[in-house]
Amino acid sequence: MTASTFKTIEKPAIDKFDVTPNLDRDNVREFDWQDLYSELDWLPGGGLNKAHEAIDRHANGSKRDKIALIWEGKNGEREDYTFGQMKEETDKFANVLKSLGIETGDRVFLFMDRLPELYFAFFGILKAGAIAGPLFSAFGPDPVKDRMIDSGAKVLVTQPDLRRKIAGIIPELFDLQHIIIVNKDGRDPAPIDTQDLDYYAEMGKAPSEFSIVNTSQYDYSIMHYTSGTTGKPKGAVHRHQAAVQQYATGKWALDLHEDDIYWCTADPGWVTGTSYGMMAPWTNGVTQLIYEGGFRASAWYEQIQKHKVTVWYTAPTAIRMLMKAGDDVPKRYDLSTLRFTASVGEPLNPEAVVWGESAIGMPFHDNWWQTETGAIMCANYASMAIKPGSMGKPIPGVELGIVDDNFEQVPAGVDGNLVVRPNWPSMFHGYWNNSSMYNSRFKGGWYMTGDNARVDEEGYFWFVGRSDDVINTAGHLVGPFEVESALIEHPAVAEAGVIGKPDPIAMEVVKAFVALNDGYEESTQLRNEIMRFVREKLSTGVAPREIDFIPSLPKTRSGKIMRRLLKARELGLPEGDISGLEED
Ligand code: ATP
Ligand code: MG
Repeated sequence: MTASTFKTIEKPAIDKFDVTPNLDRDNVREFDWQDLYSELDWLPGGGLNKAHEAIDRHANGSKRDKIALIWEGKNGEREDYTFGQMKEETDKFANVLKSLGIETGDRVFLFMDRLPELYFAFFGILKAGAIAGPLFSAFGPDPVKDRMIDSGAKVLVTQPDLRRKIAGIIPELFDLQHIIIVNKDGRDPAPIDTQDLDYYAEMGKAPSEFSIVNTSQYDYSIMHYTSGTTGKPKGAVHRHQAAVQQYATGKWALDLHEDDIYWCTADPGWVTGTSYGMMAPWTNGVTQLIYEGGFRASAWYEQIQKHKVTVWYTAPTAIRMLMKAGDDVPKRYDLSTLRFTASVGEPLNPEAVVWGESAIGMPFHDNWWQTETGAIMCANYASMAIKPGSMGKPIPGVELGIVDDNFEQVPAGVDGNLVVRPNWPSMFHGYWNNSSMYNSRFKGGWYMTGDNARVDEEGYFWFVGRSDDVINTAGHLVGPFEVESALIEHPAVAEAGVIGKPDPIAMEVVKAFVALNDGYEESTQLRNEIMRFVREKLSTGVAPREIDFIPSLPKTRSGKIMRRLLKARELGLPEGDISGLEED
């Protein structure tokens, strides 16, 4: 395996950014989650509810008038809500649900853009004891139908345009009893269907105080369907207990402090958008920005400048797009308030970590977790030296391992299955309607993440690839990430996806699909040059044997490269479940 060609980024002086000290994993030997549980507020009846921890505990205390949510709409609208106001809105929505007969354990789904009402409804659902299921608003009718039918949701909260988009599937949703329509600021001129409920009318009738259902820490709170990168999306169910790890990692891995203005760019349709776009900042009592608009490099930098964002959590695809937009763009904005930036969702190429340093003045801190883990499991903390390309070290209280196919731990430096010792606090507690798949993920005393990784002598974890994507070429196991990272170091390459192509002699050969940066034309000469470039960085056996130029890589709606689709297309095989595929 080749070592990263990037230099380690030295540990910052502890006082440089007032970083949370002692989160160098090496210093955390003794750890007990119970200490963290006692930092939660708990319900008066002894139960635990995420909405209480995120909203009510602050509304009932000294942060009542602190801004919880700064909302910037896609048309430049601005609304601010304090924790006190968030409590009132979420209480009202819980009362709306109660009046509709919603009970503990019922599923209430959200199919909305990032409007403040999405956040009110979300926590109202939790207060009512129900399970919230957010769906990404860019989904077409089929993915919505699959998830609504699978979950048996009784209520859907949506908006007029999205309601029209899925009109054809509504008659097929036999469990659905009510549709609540949010016509924000009367944006949509069409009247609300008389069979639907008007959000604002219902909220207007609802009492503004609600006594939170006394949920236990083990009750279900949220279900998220996975991204569908490797196959059919699975409905991972989480418990209220996850709050403790979301709270802790907000401090440790995102370095959230009292005065921060935090921005998480993920949509609540994905787990990052709820665990870190709702729970982590608000359990820590931190003000956060919600930006309704989509990605545009200049618009994103402008958000940071305008709202004086200090902590920014985003994803590799977005960072690669920012890199593609050029280094001049960030220079036009005042980004001096930023003090910590982090990334999750896919492997973060070392190139992107280092680019952060030069373009915005600090490296991106990669962290690893998945829908199933509910919260960050492995991270580059603010207080730790970064090895670009590594996803850091496990958080305190979480044991990660690298095992072979017999579940034996392998030595440092050897690739294997990335596994987790079960029963971390934010562990998922089921795949909805699929207990056999759930059970199959626990083997040999470990939870199998489905990812391959290795750990180095200093305890840093390095992502190799998804188990399904690892390439076996002439007896070598090759992780696509390493090859992709080498490819994008070439100035012409914006994005790369690497697959194993069956080969009669080598079993598989490495094949790369490459999207070029603006200003580069595809040519045989460029292809050869890129191949040479990668061969020099990696060994010949690992470098791609074939490179195809494509305009852009197929991605999931959450922005992940779908290597299985590149492979299916290359081999002329059926494309499988593509309900999560992003459309151009
Ligand atoms: P599906 O399970 O449906 O195939 P998915 O695994 O992409 O989809 P998510 O739960 O959204 O669904 O993504 C988690 C996965 O994303 C991880 O298992 C890992 O493969 C990848 N990932 C997340 N963060 C990182 C990271 N920092 N480095 C490398 N890979 C990451
Ligand atoms: Mg997965």
